Amino acid sequence: MYEDQYCTEGTIDQAWQSDQFESIRNAFRQNQRHPACNTCWHQESVTDRSQRTAFTQKQSLLGNPPTDEAEIRTISWSFGNTCNFACRTCSLDASTGWLRETEQLAAEGDAEAQALLDKHTKTQWDYTEWAQIEPLLHSVVYFDIIGGEPLINPRLPAMLDRIIEAGHADHITLMITTNGSTGPTERWVSRLQQFKKLILNFSIDAVTPDTFRYVRTGDWSVISDHIDQWKTQSWVGEIRCNPSFSMLNIWDCDRILAWLDRKFGVTSVGYNWVEHPRHYNAVHLPEAVKQNIVSSSTYWHSKKILSQLWSSPSDHTQWQEFIKRTEWLDQSRDQPIGKYMPQLAEIIYNYR
Ligand code: SF4
Repeated sequence: MYEDQYCTEGTIDQAWQSDQFESIRNAFRQNQRHPACNTCWHQESVTDRSQRTAFTQKQSLLGNPPTDEAEIRTISWSFGNTCNFACRTCSLDASTGWLRETEQLAAEGDAEAQALLDKHTKTQWDYTEWAQIEPLLHSVVYFDIIGGEPLINPRLPAMLDRIIEAGHADHITLMITTNGSTGPTERWVSRLQQFKKLILNFSIDAVTPDTFRYVRTGDWSVISDHIDQWKTQSWVGEIRCNPSFSMLNIWDCDRILAWLDRKFGVTSVGYNWVEHPRHYNAVHLPEAVKQNIVSSSTYWHSKKILSQLWSSPSDHTQWQEFIKRTEWLDQSRDQPIGKYMPQLAEIIYNYR
Protein backbone atom coordinates (compact mmCIF):
# COMPACT_ATOMS: atom_id res chain seq x y z
CA MET A 1 0.00 0.00 0.00
CA TYR A 2 2.74 2.45 1.01
CA GLU A 3 4.87 1.64 -1.98
CA ASP A 4 2.01 1.97 -4.44
CA GLN A 5 0.77 5.19 -2.98
CA TYR A 6 3.98 7.09 -2.38
CA CYS A 7 6.85 5.51 -4.26
CA THR A 8 5.30 5.85 -7.68
CA GLU A 9 3.42 9.10 -7.25
CA GLY A 10 3.14 12.03 -4.86
CA THR A 11 5.98 13.97 -3.30
CA ILE A 12 8.48 13.10 -0.59
CA ASP A 13 6.84 15.66 1.65
CA GLN A 14 3.39 14.12 1.11
CA ALA A 15 4.77 10.72 2.02
CA TRP A 16 6.64 12.08 5.07
CA GLN A 17 3.54 13.89 6.38
CA SER A 18 1.03 11.18 5.43
CA ASP A 19 -1.26 9.48 7.94
CA GLN A 20 0.19 6.14 6.89
CA PHE A 21 3.79 7.16 7.60
CA GLU A 22 2.75 8.79 10.86
CA SER A 23 0.99 5.58 11.92
CA ILE A 24 4.25 3.68 11.38
CA ARG A 25 6.23 6.23 13.41
CA ASN A 26 3.61 6.09 16.17
CA ALA A 27 3.74 2.31 16.28
CA PHE A 28 7.52 2.44 16.80
CA ARG A 29 7.16 5.14 19.47
CA GLN A 30 4.74 2.85 21.32
CA ASN A 31 6.85 -0.24 20.80
CA GLN A 32 4.18 -1.85 18.65
CA ARG A 33 4.62 -3.97 15.54
CA HIS A 34 3.11 -2.18 12.59
CA PRO A 35 1.75 -4.55 9.90
CA ALA A 36 3.57 -2.62 7.14
CA CYS A 37 6.79 -4.11 8.56
CA ASN A 38 5.54 -7.72 8.59
CA THR A 39 8.29 -9.02 6.31
CA CYS A 40 10.96 -7.80 8.73
CA TRP A 41 9.13 -9.06 11.83
CA HIS A 42 8.86 -12.45 10.23
CA GLN A 43 12.53 -12.56 9.20
CA GLU A 44 13.59 -11.52 12.69
CA SER A 45 11.56 -14.34 14.23
CA VAL A 46 13.45 -16.83 12.08
CA THR A 47 16.95 -15.41 11.70
CA ASP A 48 17.08 -12.50 14.20
CA ARG A 49 18.07 -10.30 11.24
CA SER A 50 16.11 -8.19 8.80
CA GLN A 51 16.42 -5.05 6.70
CA ARG A 52 15.03 -3.16 9.68
CA THR A 53 17.74 -4.38 12.09
CA ALA A 54 20.45 -3.93 9.44
CA PHE A 55 19.35 -0.34 8.86
CA THR A 56 19.15 0.42 12.59
CA GLN A 57 22.60 -1.06 13.11
CA LYS A 58 24.01 0.92 10.20
CA GLN A 59 22.64 4.16 11.62
CA SER A 60 24.13 3.43 15.03
CA LEU A 61 27.54 2.66 13.51
CA LEU A 62 27.40 5.98 11.71
CA GLY A 63 26.94 7.77 15.00
CA ASN A 64 23.43 8.60 13.89
CA PRO A 65 21.17 6.59 16.17
CA PRO A 66 17.51 6.47 15.09
CA THR A 67 15.77 9.62 16.22
CA ASP A 68 12.28 10.95 16.34
CA GLU A 69 13.28 14.29 14.87
CA ALA A 70 11.05 16.02 12.37
CA GLU A 71 13.85 16.58 9.85
CA ILE A 72 14.90 14.04 7.30
CA ARG A 73 18.37 12.77 8.20
CA THR A 74 18.85 9.88 5.83
CA ILE A 75 17.84 9.44 2.22
CA SER A 76 17.98 6.39 -0.03
CA TRP A 77 17.48 7.37 -3.63
CA SER A 78 17.18 5.28 -6.75
CA PHE A 79 17.63 7.99 -9.36
CA GLY A 80 17.46 6.15 -12.64
CA ASN A 81 17.44 2.83 -14.39
CA THR A 82 20.49 3.16 -16.64
CA CYS A 83 22.46 -0.03 -16.19
CA ASN A 84 25.00 -2.01 -18.18
CA PHE A 85 23.94 -5.36 -16.64
CA ALA A 86 20.73 -7.38 -16.96
CA CYS A 87 20.86 -9.55 -13.84
CA ARG A 88 18.37 -12.39 -13.94
CA THR A 89 16.55 -11.31 -10.77
CA CYS A 90 16.29 -7.67 -11.95
CA SER A 91 13.76 -6.10 -14.30
CA LEU A 92 13.14 -3.12 -16.54
CA ASP A 93 12.11 -1.11 -13.49
CA ALA A 94 15.75 -0.97 -12.35
CA SER A 95 17.74 -1.77 -15.47
CA THR A 96 17.60 -0.65 -19.08
CA GLY A 97 19.59 -3.83 -19.77
CA TRP A 98 16.23 -5.62 -19.59
CA LEU A 99 14.57 -3.65 -22.39
CA ARG A 100 15.08 -6.11 -25.26
CA GLU A 101 13.84 -9.12 -23.31
CA THR A 102 10.90 -7.26 -21.78
CA GLU A 103 9.81 -6.26 -25.28
CA GLN A 104 10.20 -9.86 -26.40
CA LEU A 105 8.16 -11.19 -23.45
CA ALA A 106 5.45 -8.59 -24.02
CA ALA A 107 5.26 -9.57 -27.70
CA GLU A 108 4.73 -13.17 -26.55
CA GLY A 109 1.74 -12.05 -24.47
CA ASP A 110 3.34 -11.74 -21.01
CA ALA A 111 1.05 -9.29 -19.17
CA GLU A 112 3.62 -8.40 -16.49
CA ALA A 113 6.20 -7.53 -19.15
CA GLN A 114 3.63 -5.43 -20.99
CA ALA A 115 2.82 -3.55 -17.77
CA LEU A 116 6.53 -2.87 -17.19
CA LEU A 117 6.88 -1.67 -20.74
CA ASP A 118 3.84 0.60 -20.46
CA LYS A 119 5.27 2.47 -17.49
CA HIS A 120 8.88 2.35 -18.67
CA THR A 121 10.76 5.48 -19.45
CA LYS A 122 14.51 5.59 -19.83
CA THR A 123 15.12 7.51 -16.64
CA GLN A 124 18.74 8.47 -16.75
CA TRP A 125 18.02 11.03 -14.09
CA ASP A 126 14.86 11.74 -12.11
CA TYR A 127 14.82 15.55 -12.17
CA THR A 128 11.47 15.75 -10.35
CA GLU A 129 12.73 13.81 -7.35
CA TRP A 130 16.08 15.62 -7.37
CA ALA A 131 14.22 18.94 -7.13
CA GLN A 132 12.57 17.64 -3.94
CA ILE A 133 15.72 16.08 -2.49
CA GLU A 134 18.16 18.95 -2.99
CA PRO A 135 16.48 21.32 -0.47
CA LEU A 136 16.50 18.54 2.15
CA LEU A 137 20.25 17.97 2.03
CA HIS A 138 21.14 20.59 4.67
CA SER A 139 20.00 18.19 7.43
CA VAL A 140 20.98 14.93 5.78
CA VAL A 141 23.87 12.96 7.26
CA TYR A 142 23.50 9.78 5.25
CA PHE A 143 22.76 9.65 1.53
CA ASP A 144 22.41 6.24 -0.04
CA ILE A 145 22.35 6.21 -3.83
CA ILE A 146 21.27 3.29 -5.92
CA GLY A 147 20.75 3.05 -9.68
CA GLY A 148 20.50 1.39 -12.15
CA GLU A 149 24.26 1.48 -11.92
CA PRO A 150 25.27 4.83 -10.38
CA LEU A 151 28.89 4.85 -11.55
CA ILE A 152 28.04 4.74 -15.26
CA ASN A 153 25.49 7.52 -14.96
CA PRO A 154 26.67 10.66 -16.81
CA ARG A 155 24.46 12.94 -14.63
CA LEU A 156 25.84 11.83 -11.28
CA PRO A 157 29.10 13.86 -11.37
CA ALA A 158 27.10 17.10 -11.79
CA MET A 159 24.88 16.17 -8.81
CA LEU A 160 27.94 15.48 -6.66
CA ASP A 161 29.43 18.82 -7.75
CA ARG A 162 26.27 20.64 -6.67
CA ILE A 163 26.32 18.96 -3.26
CA ILE A 164 30.01 19.81 -2.83
CA GLU A 165 29.56 23.43 -3.96
CA ALA A 166 26.60 23.88 -1.57
CA GLY A 167 28.87 22.78 1.32
CA HIS A 168 26.88 19.64 2.18
CA ALA A 169 29.56 17.06 1.38
CA ASP A 170 31.25 17.78 4.75
CA HIS A 171 28.30 16.42 6.73
CA ILE A 172 27.15 13.64 4.40
CA THR A 173 28.22 10.03 4.49
CA LEU A 174 27.63 8.86 0.95
CA MET A 175 26.85 5.24 0.22
CA ILE A 176 26.96 4.04 -3.38
CA THR A 177 25.74 0.61 -4.33
CA THR A 178 27.59 -0.54 -7.43
CA ASN A 179 27.84 -3.59 -9.66
CA GLY A 180 31.62 -3.15 -9.78
CA SER A 181 31.87 -2.39 -13.49
CA THR A 182 33.68 0.91 -12.86
CA GLY A 183 37.06 1.33 -11.23
CA PRO A 184 38.40 4.31 -9.25
CA THR A 185 38.88 6.72 -12.14
CA GLU A 186 39.90 10.34 -11.56
CA ARG A 187 36.38 11.46 -12.48
CA TRP A 188 34.99 9.68 -9.41
CA VAL A 189 37.91 9.88 -7.01
CA SER A 190 38.17 13.68 -7.20
CA ARG A 191 34.49 14.08 -6.27
CA LEU A 192 33.89 11.21 -3.87
CA GLN A 193 36.93 12.19 -1.78
CA GLN A 194 35.15 15.42 -0.83
CA PHE A 195 32.47 13.68 1.22
CA LYS A 196 32.63 13.13 4.95
CA LYS A 197 32.81 9.42 4.30
CA LEU A 198 32.30 7.15 1.31
CA ILE A 199 30.84 3.68 1.73
CA LEU A 200 31.09 1.55 -1.40
CA ASN A 201 28.69 -1.35 -1.41
CA PHE A 202 29.31 -3.99 -4.07
CA SER A 203 26.48 -6.22 -5.28
CA ILE A 204 28.13 -9.58 -5.84
CA ASP A 205 25.88 -12.62 -6.28
CA ALA A 206 28.37 -15.05 -7.82
CA VAL A 207 32.13 -15.53 -7.60
CA THR A 208 33.26 -17.52 -10.65
CA PRO A 209 33.43 -16.41 -14.31
CA ASP A 210 30.63 -18.75 -15.43
CA THR A 211 28.22 -18.24 -12.54
CA PHE A 212 28.78 -14.48 -12.60
CA ARG A 213 28.14 -14.30 -16.35
CA TYR A 214 24.97 -16.36 -15.88
CA VAL A 215 23.48 -14.53 -12.89
CA ARG A 216 24.64 -10.95 -13.55
CA THR A 217 25.76 -10.89 -17.22
CA GLY A 218 29.06 -9.12 -16.40
CA ASP A 219 32.69 -10.18 -16.66
CA TRP A 220 33.94 -11.57 -13.34
CA SER A 221 37.63 -10.85 -13.96
CA VAL A 222 36.87 -7.17 -14.63
CA ILE A 223 34.70 -6.89 -11.51
CA SER A 224 37.18 -8.60 -9.20
CA ASP A 225 39.99 -6.37 -10.58
CA HIS A 226 37.89 -3.31 -9.85
CA ILE A 227 37.23 -4.44 -6.28
CA ASP A 228 41.00 -4.77 -5.80
CA GLN A 229 41.58 -1.33 -7.32
CA TRP A 230 39.01 0.30 -5.04
CA LYS A 231 40.61 -1.43 -2.07
CA THR A 232 43.89 0.39 -2.79
CA GLN A 233 42.09 3.73 -2.26
CA SER A 234 42.89 4.29 1.40
CA TRP A 235 40.61 7.36 1.65
CA VAL A 236 37.47 5.25 1.06
CA GLY A 237 35.75 4.96 4.45
CA GLU A 238 34.31 1.50 4.00
CA ILE A 239 34.14 -1.12 1.29
CA ARG A 240 31.49 -3.76 1.76
CA CYS A 241 29.30 -6.10 -0.20
CA ASN A 242 25.79 -7.46 -0.23
CA PRO A 243 25.17 -10.70 -2.07
CA SER A 244 21.53 -11.30 -3.01
CA PHE A 245 20.50 -14.89 -2.42
CA SER A 246 17.82 -16.44 -4.58
CA MET A 247 16.89 -19.75 -6.19
CA LEU A 248 19.72 -19.08 -8.63
CA ASN A 249 22.59 -19.11 -6.18
CA ILE A 250 21.53 -20.31 -2.72
CA TRP A 251 23.03 -23.74 -3.50
CA ASP A 252 26.39 -21.89 -3.89
CA CYS A 253 26.09 -20.02 -0.59
CA ASP A 254 29.23 -21.55 0.98
CA ARG A 255 31.52 -20.66 -1.91
CA ILE A 256 30.09 -17.16 -2.33
CA LEU A 257 30.36 -16.27 1.36
CA ALA A 258 33.83 -17.79 1.78
CA TRP A 259 35.13 -15.69 -1.15
CA LEU A 260 33.43 -12.50 0.03
CA ASP A 261 34.56 -12.98 3.64
CA ARG A 262 38.17 -13.31 2.46
CA LYS A 263 37.92 -10.31 0.15
CA PHE A 264 35.87 -7.87 2.26
CA GLY A 265 36.16 -9.21 5.81
CA VAL A 266 33.33 -11.01 7.59
CA THR A 267 31.90 -7.91 9.24
CA SER A 268 31.62 -6.14 5.87
CA VAL A 269 29.52 -8.84 4.24
CA GLY A 270 25.76 -8.43 4.49
CA TYR A 271 23.13 -10.09 2.38
CA ASN A 272 19.77 -9.57 0.71
CA TRP A 273 17.12 -12.22 0.39
CA VAL A 274 15.38 -11.93 -2.97
CA GLU A 275 11.61 -11.86 -2.39
CA HIS A 276 10.55 -10.39 -5.73
CA PRO A 277 9.97 -11.61 -8.31
CA ARG A 278 8.42 -14.33 -6.15
CA HIS A 279 9.66 -17.17 -8.35
CA TYR A 280 13.25 -16.27 -7.39
CA ASN A 281 12.54 -16.51 -3.65
CA ALA A 282 14.55 -19.53 -2.50
CA VAL A 283 11.95 -20.45 0.15
CA HIS A 284 9.92 -21.88 -2.76
CA LEU A 285 12.52 -24.52 -3.62
CA PRO A 286 11.20 -28.05 -3.07
CA GLU A 287 11.64 -29.06 0.58
CA ALA A 288 14.03 -31.89 -0.36
CA VAL A 289 16.27 -29.44 -2.21
CA LYS A 290 16.34 -27.10 0.78
CA GLN A 291 17.21 -30.04 3.01
CA ASN A 292 20.08 -31.09 0.70
CA ILE A 293 21.49 -27.57 0.53
CA VAL A 294 21.43 -27.18 4.31
CA SER A 295 22.85 -30.61 5.09
CA SER A 296 25.69 -30.32 2.56
CA SER A 297 26.72 -26.81 3.72
CA THR A 298 29.93 -26.76 5.75
CA TYR A 299 30.78 -23.06 5.94
CA TRP A 300 29.87 -21.51 9.30
CA HIS A 301 28.75 -18.18 7.85
CA SER A 302 26.08 -19.86 5.70
CA LYS A 303 24.18 -21.26 8.66
CA LYS A 304 22.07 -18.25 9.58
CA ILE A 305 21.39 -17.34 5.99
CA LEU A 306 20.33 -20.85 5.04
CA SER A 307 17.97 -20.99 8.01
CA GLN A 308 15.86 -18.46 6.12
CA LEU A 309 14.95 -21.25 3.70
CA TRP A 310 12.53 -22.47 6.37
CA SER A 311 10.82 -19.12 6.90
CA SER A 312 8.00 -20.16 4.51
CA PRO A 313 6.87 -23.46 3.02
CA SER A 314 7.86 -24.17 -0.57
CA ASP A 315 5.44 -23.34 -3.33
CA HIS A 316 5.35 -25.71 -6.29
CA THR A 317 3.82 -23.10 -8.60
CA GLN A 318 6.68 -20.67 -7.96
CA TRP A 319 9.26 -23.44 -8.44
CA GLN A 320 7.71 -24.31 -11.80
CA GLU A 321 7.60 -20.64 -12.76
CA PHE A 322 11.29 -20.34 -11.90
CA ILE A 323 12.10 -23.30 -14.17
CA LYS A 324 10.00 -21.87 -17.00
CA ARG A 325 11.56 -18.39 -16.74
CA THR A 326 15.06 -19.83 -16.45
CA GLU A 327 14.62 -21.90 -19.60
CA TRP A 328 13.27 -18.88 -21.45
CA LEU A 329 16.23 -16.71 -20.41
CA ASP A 330 18.75 -19.46 -21.20
CA GLN A 331 17.43 -19.53 -24.73
CA SER A 332 17.20 -15.77 -25.09
CA ARG A 333 20.78 -15.33 -23.83
CA ASP A 334 22.20 -18.45 -25.40
CA GLN A 335 23.36 -19.59 -21.96
CA PRO A 336 22.85 -23.32 -21.53
CA ILE A 337 22.47 -23.84 -17.79
CA GLY A 338 24.43 -27.10 -17.94
CA LYS A 339 27.48 -25.15 -19.13
CA TYR A 340 27.25 -22.19 -16.77
CA MET A 341 25.68 -23.72 -13.66
CA PRO A 342 25.81 -27.52 -13.85
CA GLN A 343 24.91 -27.83 -10.15
CA LEU A 344 21.67 -25.87 -10.58
CA ALA A 345 20.94 -27.79 -13.80
CA GLU A 346 21.16 -31.02 -11.79
CA ILE A 347 18.79 -29.72 -9.11
CA ILE A 348 16.25 -28.74 -11.77
CA TYR A 349 16.68 -32.05 -13.59
CA ASN A 350 16.10 -34.06 -10.39
CA TYR A 351 13.22 -32.07 -8.93
CA ARG A 352 11.31 -30.52 -11.83
S1 SF4 B 1 23.43 -4.31 -11.63
FE1 SF4 B 1 21.69 -3.77 -10.30
S2 SF4 B 1 20.37 -2.44 -11.56
FE2 SF4 B 1 21.82 -3.46 -12.95
S3 SF4 B 1 20.72 -5.25 -13.68
FE3 SF4 B 1 21.92 -5.91 -11.90
S4 SF4 B 1 20.55 -5.69 -10.15
FE4 SF4 B 1 19.63 -4.53 -11.86
